[in-house]
Amino acid sequence: MDRIKDHGRIMIIGAGGVATVAAHKCAQVSDVFREIMVASRTLSKCEAISRDIGLRYGRDIRTAGVNADNVRELISLIEKFQPYAVLNLALPYQDLHIMDACLETGVHYIDTANYEPPEKAHFEYSWQWAYQERFKEKGIMAVLGSGFDPGVTNIFTAYADKHLFDEINYLDILDCNAGSHGHAFATNFNPEINIREVSQVVRHWNKGKWVETPAIIDEGSIHFSFDYPAAGPRDSYLLYHEELESLVLNIKGLKRARFWMTFSDNYLTHLKVLKNVGMTRIDEVDYDGCKVVPVKFLKALLPEPASLGTKYTGKTVIGNIITGKKDGKTITRYIYNVCDHEESFKETGTQAIAYTTGVPAMIGAMMVITGAWQGSGVFNMEQLDPDRFMDALNKYGLPWQVVEHDPLP
Ligand code: NDP
Repeated sequence: MDRIKDHGRIMIIGAGGVATVAAHKCAQVSDVFREIMVASRTLSKCEAISRDIGLRYGRDIRTAGVNADNVRELISLIEKFQPYAVLNLALPYQDLHIMDACLETGVHYIDTANYEPPEKAHFEYSWQWAYQERFKEKGIMAVLGSGFDPGVTNIFTAYADKHLFDEINYLDILDCNAGSHGHAFATNFNPEINIREVSQVVRHWNKGKWVETPAIIDEGSIHFSFDYPAAGPRDSYLLYHEELESLVLNIKGLKRARFWMTFSDNYLTHLKVLKNVGMTRIDEVDYDGCKVVPVKFLKALLPEPASLGTKYTGKTVIGNIITGKKDGKTITRYIYNVCDHEESFKETGTQAIAYTTGVPAMIGAMMVITGAWQGSGVFNMEQLDPDRFMDALNKYGLPWQVVEHDPLP
């Protein structure tokens, strides 16, 4: 308890959909998160979150405007508020700057998405793994990818490895959004990051190497119909996702690892057209003497993901199908969560994609603040003990289940 008294101060950076949910969930767990600050680029968005939380739970949330690309500005805010941990829910572009500020001030770091340089649509862990020695020397933790995927999907794998299997051989992560938001086209999290992610060439791990296949909107993309619990059959596309990179290193015995995500024909058609006309470009274009980055301009036109909740109905179903050995037999298990858009909106004012990311972000911060996870260095989620995290998922709004399943071909 003393530890919580000393360390229950959290600084959330960002004020979008995911940060909104995380702030709500932190506010609900007042015995762990005793003082909360929401700091982001647009102060008015932080103030709106603080006002809503004040009305719902009667808690006083501190706010601040900060440019998280300015390390000196961050350091000065951290020194003023003195948090025990910083929960980075801004964009992947800010990861390294926020890690630098945490290193300088000796504060733990948690995020939900790995670093991506603004000028290149490419993400990988190498940039953040490069902080390993410096975080170790400073005696602080960086917990990478504490959202749902990455995040809960890594924890599901670690839990299966610890309790359900002697060896995991085949891993399929399936992410289904069977919800409907009522807009012709919108992305469920930051449009720029989302479009960069889904437009790339696909990779999956097979027999010790990465295999490349066409992007989801290109000829030859790989997809199949999977019958999701609570959602029914949905076309699911092979996609590269960041948790595959750490899981193939950390889960011994893995022969194949794939990630699948559902997309509607409507979404794919819009994306194809936007790409064909150049609206998904990430380089600067000269327009009437102004420099414009098309995908950033597109973001300005699309609905804010945090605002989609008002009309969102339906469910998300995200989980892992795992095949491996147990007591000499080959078995397959499906671990998954079902989350409802309308329920998420009722509780936090945002939709289920933000909810399924913001809840594990809060739980990751809770693991660090309560000392359930301790250590020095940079950690991916599957390197940390899954048990307390799995209990917390059940307790704080993302219940999961494990069922027997047929192996995927
Ligand atoms: P939003 O775009 O809704 O919110 C991002 C927030 O970060 C905005 O409030 C934005 O400010 C703020 N921000 C951007 N740049 C800066 C900066 N330089 N300094 C300070 N604040 C800044 O995104 P989401 O909430 O949808 O997503 C947040 C993160 O969660 C992203 O990194 C995303 O990739 C990740 N994510 C992870 C998932 C997972 O399962 N692991 C799933 C979904 C998302 P402003 O309001 O001024 O624009």
